[in-house]
Amino acid sequence: MKVTIVPFFISHWGCPHRCVFCDQRKVAGAEDVLPAPAEILDRVAAYRRSSGSGSVEVAFYGGSFTGLPRGEQELLLKPLQPLLASGEVSGVRVSTRPDSVDNRCAAFLGRMGVATVELGVQSLDDRVLELAGRGHSAAHVAAAVSELKGEGIRVGLQLMPGLPGDSAETSLASLAGTLALAPDFMRIYPTVVLVGTRLAELFAAGSYRPLTLQQAVALCKVMLHRAMLARVPVIRMGLQPTEDLGQGGAVVAGPYHPAFRQLVEAELRYDLLVRLAAEVPRDGAAVEVSCSPDRVSDVVGQRRSNLKRLLREQGVRVSAVRGDPLLSSPDMAVAGPHGVRSGNILTDLKYSDKDINYV
Ligand code: SF4
Repeated sequence: MKVTIVPFFISHWGCPHRCVFCDQRKVAGAEDVLPAPAEILDRVAAYRRSSGSGSVEVAFYGGSFTGLPRGEQELLLKPLQPLLASGEVSGVRVSTRPDSVDNRCAAFLGRMGVATVELGVQSLDDRVLELAGRGHSAAHVAAAVSELKGEGIRVGLQLMPGLPGDSAETSLASLAGTLALAPDFMRIYPTVVLVGTRLAELFAAGSYRPLTLQQAVALCKVMLHRAMLARVPVIRMGLQPTEDLGQGGAVVAGPYHPAFRQLVEAELRYDLLVRLAAEVPRDGAAVEVSCSPDRVSDVVGQRRSNLKRLLREQGVRVSAVRGDPLLSSPDMAVAGPHGVRSGNILTDLKYSDKDINYV
């Protein structure tokens, strides 16, 4: 059943740090003051009305929830207790920093009905973390995950490839370390330079060069593929398009794209298309491609980019891409006068670290 999220964006509250990339207001449309109990209840009621009979979950995003004084955390969580008990709210999720979670904090969150905690990990390379001004190390991440899991709390981990000092190698090592912690889900945000951040100053001074969009897609494709193989869902890739980001003024540089995830998914499908097309005779006959119905647009690519590229680079023309409900999301089949060839992203694609074209 679809769960409706009731979001509260907590701007920098509880956070004594200024990470080089962070401008919470631009990223999240954060609120300037903590929401009052009545406001929390009103918003939950409004989302419940609009969700029909669906279940709602309350999320405190942004900032560093567990860095707030305990009394303020209680002010936010206490109004939800009756709703959690009655089932009107199915769960609460918060986001925070790895070094703001210890055993007492995890026990408190568990008692207050917090079901999911998202940790801003960003990297598991201590030098990259230091250059990003994070103020915590990779060891804090492992400790926080262990405490939260010990309380039965679901854990989501966020990574930011492309930070200062990062490379394809360190990004993939961070991913490997993250997957080894067996998170319940991940988000991957390739680093974007936002106005008003320290990163924007470094970029202007020429001492930081962000990934290009092409580099970020190439790297994130491999990261997504490895997460899929590890069966860890990646629930988001790339910054959520907001009005500010959409207007363009907030993004100074870097691989921002409003449909970043689709670019990555389309690249994976292109690689499988190339593999399946390798045995298609170059006799000019067109082929038909089948995939799961919800993946047709990923196979076609934005503005038919995958189909045009397949013709340009491989000499294979696709006459149609059809959704087949019998195929699962990673499956694909290519059919033509030569017969049918089937493939699967998980079993037929292999990427080595060297496949990533970024220095
Ligand atoms: S810890 Fe989070 S909220 Fe605080 S500055 Fe860093 S990214 Fe921003």
